[in-house]
Amino acid sequence: MKHDPSRAIFEMKQFGEFGDVNPSITDSATYTFLQAKTMADTFHGEAEGCFLYSRHWNPSNKYLADVLSAMEGTEEGWVTASGMAAITSTILQICSAGDHIVASVSSYGGTFAFMQNYLPKFNIKTTFVDITDLDAVRKAITPETKIIYTESMTNPMLQIADIPALAEIANTHNIKLIVDNTFTPMILQPAVLGAHIVVYSMTKFINGKNDCVAGAICGSHEFIGSLIDVNNGTAMLLGPALDPMRSSSILKNLHTLHIRMQQHSKNAMYLAIKMKEAGLTISYPGLPEHKGHESLKSQMNPDFGFGGMLSIDMLSSEKASRFMELMEMHDVGYLAVSLGYFKTLFSNSGKSTSSEVPDEIQHDMGLSEGLVRFSVGLDHDIELTWKQIEHCLNLMD
Ligand code: PLP
Repeated sequence: MKHDPSRAIFEMKQFGEFGDVNPSITDSATYTFLQAKTMADTFHGEAEGCFLYSRHWNPSNKYLADVLSAMEGTEEGWVTASGMAAITSTILQICSAGDHIVASVSSYGGTFAFMQNYLPKFNIKTTFVDITDLDAVRKAITPETKIIYTESMTNPMLQIADIPALAEIANTHNIKLIVDNTFTPMILQPAVLGAHIVVYSMTKFINGKNDCVAGAICGSHEFIGSLIDVNNGTAMLLGPALDPMRSSSILKNLHTLHIRMQQHSKNAMYLAIKMKEAGLTISYPGLPEHKGHESLKSQMNPDFGFGGMLSIDMLSSEKASRFMELMEMHDVGYLAVSLGYFKTLFSNSGKSTSSEVPDEIQHDMGLSEGLVRFSVGLDHDIELTWKQIEHCLNLMD
């Protein structure tokens, strides 16, 4: 039976200690035990249902992680203080000195910088490829490779990763496929499609309110257990645990994610069609001419549309800047990085969230300096929004 992420969330029964319909918030760093032996057993991972210390597990974080893993169809989850914490903890848990990663060159700039600039400190090297070129992925794998890393819909190029095909390559080599599903929650369930580990920046669509940074890791019971192992778990030892107060607020927002994704997708599709008709160079995976359209259709849950992310090419960064300033002035949305917010956000990727990627690599991957990435908001009157964008375009002439 098809995995239904919104139903999986809906069916979760989580209550507070007084029958509260929202689970209680546990704002404790430590937990008491009645028997010393139970504490010792908990340290060794041998006591079920006991909490030890909130860097390891906190009940509020567990509520959120349980819902996320139900949504993703994985055995377990763990929540982190940022998306980068989820990504870096996962990679550092799997890779040791001398290991190698094959990664999509079109990835969030921070992820790119971590692999390109930071991991070499530990002699962990990365080969960046066009993730839609499966032969390039195969060719890049060496005996040292431990991970194939991609975003489901890549930032900022909006390429669509063929998750089942990448999973097959990973399985052939007995390595892990890690998928960052930040752009496409609900729309894609990477683990159901074959990915071994799913990571998120919950800062974006999942939380949807731009009031915090947060992240998540979903995977097998064994992998999450290894991450929080007291002796050598990366999450336990580096300590990027999410604050339980935040877990509690994100959990409530997660229950409206299915409706929000539908509206983001509906609005983005409307704007994409209008922008195309206006003769703009537009990239939106929902349009049939987008290179990843068929691939996305074959993998997605159609109930949630093609997502809220689109981009247009204004050809130069000067034009992109002027256009974004005009749009902010005329109430289209905000000139800001990040995405998945109820208001439309736009930024010039090459000069902002992909600025960590050197110019020549930006050029090679086809990232135009005039690319304006939109995270389309939840506007009720998207027709009016389009009229405002059109007005800004006219002011550019
Ligand atoms: N993954 C993607 C696709 C992103 O766009 C971002 C941030 O922009 C991140 C990860 C990092 O997330 P955070 O800012 O929550 O650390």
